[in-house]
Amino acid sequence: MEEDCRLCPILGFSPPIWATRTRIVLGQGDHSSKVFFVGEAPSREEDAEGAPFTGKVEEIFDDLLESIGLNRQMVYVTNLVKCRPTDFQGGDRVPTCSEVMVCLPHTLNEINGIKPKVICPMGSLTLGCFLPRFVKLSDVHGKPHKYGDKVLIPLYHPASALSKPEMLETMKADMLAVKKALEEAN
Ligand code: URA
Repeated sequence: MEEDCRLCPILGFSPPIWATRTRIVLGQGDHSSKVFFVGEAPSREEDAEGAPFTGKVEEIFDDLLESIGLNRQMVYVTNLVKCRPTDFQGGDRVPTCSEVMVCLPHTLNEINGIKPKVICPMGSLTLGCFLPRFVKLSDVHGKPHKYGDKVLIPLYHPASALSKPEMLETMKADMLAVKKALEEAN
């Protein structure tokens, strides 16, 4: 990816995210990992830190990994959109469709380079880039889908557990499907 990507359209959300980001937040972890986690976009904390899932959701994401014997060094984690989308008040916002579309080739390049066996989109916005939009995350979370030569396992976004801690149990159960798929890939 270009160090100073400015592909988000001027005729899109204004100001474009390249004008308000601190930095591009690239994917992180093991570049030959068998598992690839993909979230939505960096928030304020990730924009400041320069690494995905290091803000409010860091602890939850790390706990979920740990529940199946993994850690950050053993997996690859990235976001659909690599720059922080900022709202009119300077807060975080979800990325627009055009931001997602413009950034998607970078995520596909990451997948092509890393060649994971298991892809885990986290949250419904991300799921919509991998499965048809009418598929509901509540129907497919934790269920493996054949995806070319890979397995796709949709997961709830770790941030869901911030407002609904009772979801953690379900999220950990879904991680068991990731563990199983990784064992089967070996
Ligand atoms: N932080 C990230 O890096 N990605 C998300 O989707 C949410 C928070």
